[in-house]
Amino acid sequence: MPEQLTVYNPATGEAIESIPQQTAQEVEEAIERSHQAFQSWSKTSAGERASLLRKWYELIVEHKEELAELITKENGKPYQEAVGEVLYGAGYIEWFAEEAKRIYGRTVPAAAGKRIVVTRQAVGPVAAITPWNFPNAMITRKAAPALAAGCTFIIKPAEDTPLSAYALARLAYEAGIPKDVLQVVIGDGAEIGNVFTSSPKIRKITFTGSTPVGKILMKNSADTVKHMSMELGGHAPLIVDEDADLDLAVKQTMASKFRNAGQTCVCANRLIVHESIKDEFAKKLSEEAAKLKVGNGLEEGVNVGPVINKKGFDKIVSQINDAVEKGAKVLTGGTYDQNDEKGCYFVTPTVLADVDTSMNIMHEETFGPVAPIVTFSDIDEAIKLANDTPFGLAAYFFTENYRRGIYISEHLEYGIIGWNDGGPSAVQAPFGGMKESGIGREGGTEGIEPYLETKYMSIGL
Ligand code: ADP
Repeated sequence: MPEQLTVYNPATGEAIESIPQQTAQEVEEAIERSHQAFQSWSKTSAGERASLLRKWYELIVEHKEELAELITKENGKPYQEAVGEVLYGAGYIEWFAEEAKRIYGRTVPAAAGKRIVVTRQAVGPVAAITPWNFPNAMITRKAAPALAAGCTFIIKPAEDTPLSAYALARLAYEAGIPKDVLQVVIGDGAEIGNVFTSSPKIRKITFTGSTPVGKILMKNSADTVKHMSMELGGHAPLIVDEDADLDLAVKQTMASKFRNAGQTCVCANRLIVHESIKDEFAKKLSEEAAKLKVGNGLEEGVNVGPVINKKGFDKIVSQINDAVEKGAKVLTGGTYDQNDEKGCYFVTPTVLADVDTSMNIMHEETFGPVAPIVTFSDIDEAIKLANDTPFGLAAYFFTENYRRGIYISEHLEYGIIGWNDGGPSAVQAPFGGMKESGIGREGGTEGIEPYLETKYMSIGL
């Protein structure tokens, strides 16, 4: 492994910064420091942890412009979206600063001559591994509940976007959070992942990324029986029923599909549209998609930035080619700006019609700005298609009919449902998936649970 990791801007190919990578030995030392720091941090009062988190939150909000610029530089997303990410990410810190004070236990009626007391305590040092698509918010929504619960925390950010992690850590230290309570380590995912999973001192792994890597982490954590939170892949269906408000459906589909150039695990991946409205929906959606400006996210008016790297680009292109070869029609987009020398890849927002289930795009997460439209005539057929995947993260549907809406929502096997809403993520709500999309929830009152152990004491009188 090279000693330095150079981070490149995916919109320009320019090197942003080179930073040192940690060796396995250095990661071991970080774990030891985390273990030591846990002894005192876990015993601080909830009020103390809450005020440090609150200060961290305030510093992030104060520095939102520079944090957003850094996100745009290393990830590529448009600047205004990056500002949104910073505020969304900071919201988790504010939320869990407040939740720290509500880690309640309980007393339980016991047999005569006994008392039963249930208390909660921090699980121990936590290791986090995060992806590049939200370089800032994927860290805060793990670090904030961990620290609030009294855990110490080591983060290994994605190789493509480690600079936001450092920037967040610097502000945490400025807020007064001890350096060994929140640490950043940089390097190869598999190598550092193995150090984390094999260490008995790490009591919990929290991961956001692909399902195959999540499975490796789960397998490798078996020997030390760690707590696990897994935020894995998605393959979100978006159903537009015959009685949907079409303008609303188009607007929300645009927001869900093309945000972050389609590179989020909750982006609508399959548009399942009632046959009676499919032409009108497809026309309106294509018109809106064609208006999006693709380019460098730091430039004014850009709506869609580059895709993160060649691997991501190749997957998107192969899905489009496969669909077209099998009979899909390109309504808009389907063009690329590819510069292998610089490592810059842009995909024009694409809408595909006449899609069917023989095409790869209906089975694999795209992680790109491509909207494939399939049609249905009967709502049970749409629900069956929506659930026909090992994933169960986010699903969306559009209907103005409340009976249909309740029926659809109760039959979708998904952890997050957007009914007439393409943007359901919120700090106060439990984010997470069913099936192979993950284990555990982030945000909401549920979000602190995975960082807590339960201790039950039976007192004999
Ligand atoms: P993507 O393909 O979208 O980059 P990954 O799941 O490969 O998604 O990456 C998400 C995070 O997982 C990154 O921080 C990456 O370094 C890390 N990672 C990749 N492979 C492994 C592995 N074998 N063990 C632990 N972490 C890994």
